[in-house]
Amino acid sequence: MMKVYDVVIIGGGPAGLSAALYAGRATLSTLLIEKEQVGGQIMMTSEIENYPGCVEEESGATLIDRMKKQAAHFGVETISDEITEVDLSQKVKVLKGQQETYRAKSIIIASGAASKRLGCEGEEQFIGRGVSYCATCDASFFRGLDVFVVGGGDTAVEEALFLTKFARKVSIIHRRDQLRAAKSIQEKAKKNPKIDFMWDSAIESLSGDGILEKMVIKNLKTGEKTEYIASPEDMTFGVFVFVGYAPNTALFKEELELENGYIKADDMMKTSIDGVFAAGDVRVKSLRQVVTAVSDGAIGAVQAEKYIDSLE
Ligand code: FAD
Ligand code: NAP
Repeated sequence: MMKVYDVVIIGGGPAGLSAALYAGRATLSTLLIEKEQVGGQIMMTSEIENYPGCVEEESGATLIDRMKKQAAHFGVETISDEITEVDLSQKVKVLKGQQETYRAKSIIIASGAASKRLGCEGEEQFIGRGVSYCATCDASFFRGLDVFVVGGGDTAVEEALFLTKFARKVSIIHRRDQLRAAKSIQEKAKKNPKIDFMWDSAIESLSGDGILEKMVIKNLKTGEKTEYIASPEDMTFGVFVFVGYAPNTALFKEELELENGYIKADDMMKTSIDGVFAAGDVRVKSLRQVVTAVSDGAIGAVQAEKYIDSLE
């Protein structure tokens, strides 16, 4: 007979790890399932300034490392697998992974969000050959080269600032003439001599022979097209895409109520199905940050405990 866990958590980002900590500490049998590396999106950032208690030299990786240890301390089991199918209709919820099938009395969905693609010609072909979605991971490959950042939100501008530590020059390509990023972040970028802006612009195509060598940029107001070609000494350049994130909810769209692709959950993290909770960036909310993700995870786990008690 296959084990039925008290709680299975889908996703090992901040929301999942916090849920794991609270569920484990409540002595519930808890399984955390993560398809990539434990830690989620915050692993991509080299500096966190706005998580309470992070004063200096805190990166996504160092913060997550402590969260992982804390959850493991309370007996949480972690498995590397990707959930590909769910059946939430029965009392015992069934999750099919690529490796195994898991069963649980309650589920906490903490599957977060993933980088959106630009959708321009050549983008997919040059991923890892000039096109990147993670500055912390790839910045050092572009030391001394020109780098272009696409997007105008917090991520694009913060990552552009980070990239100035490596690149010769960082150009922010934005489709409007105003940034969406917080004013404090904008000010830092506007003061940085290595950063310039290409307003009202979009990348039309990316090309090259094996590695990224050429880009066509279109001015969206005038229609004018400009070519950027890597010099023979440089050979290549970088394009970092930060145009937002889409929720990882494809698995749940038949079973749960969604709004704009995000899972609807109340302030107890309850979804439209009893025993199924959603926490973190995956749910409808006004602020997607580590501090709100960990709060959701804690509430979800406490509510899962109450739900399990009600079954007995
Ligand atoms: P995620 O971090 O997205 O984690 C979800 C996890 O679920 C992922 O690891 C994913 O692999 C896994 N998963 C998804 N589907 C499945 C599946 N089917 N099976 C198994 N596993 C699955 N916030 C701040 O507070 N401060 C910052 O400075 C800050 N900087 C940021 C910088 C960047 C570049 C980015 C992208 C985000 C930043 N954020 C910051 C936002 C913060 O990272 C998110 O709000 C937070 O990570 C959300 O946590 P989460 O656990 O809900 O989701
Ligand atoms: P975001 O706020 O959604 O911004 C996305 C940016 O990309 C916008 O400027 C948008 O342009 C642009 N864009 C979207 N689709 C595009 C396309 N197809 N082509 C070209 N440009 C496109 O995303 P984000 O910056 O990743 O931030 C996500 C969340 O994480 C936010 O809530 C943010 O506050 C949070 N975050 C916080 C921090 C921090 O607190 N330090 C750091 C990073 C992220 P428009 O402006 O024209 O819409």
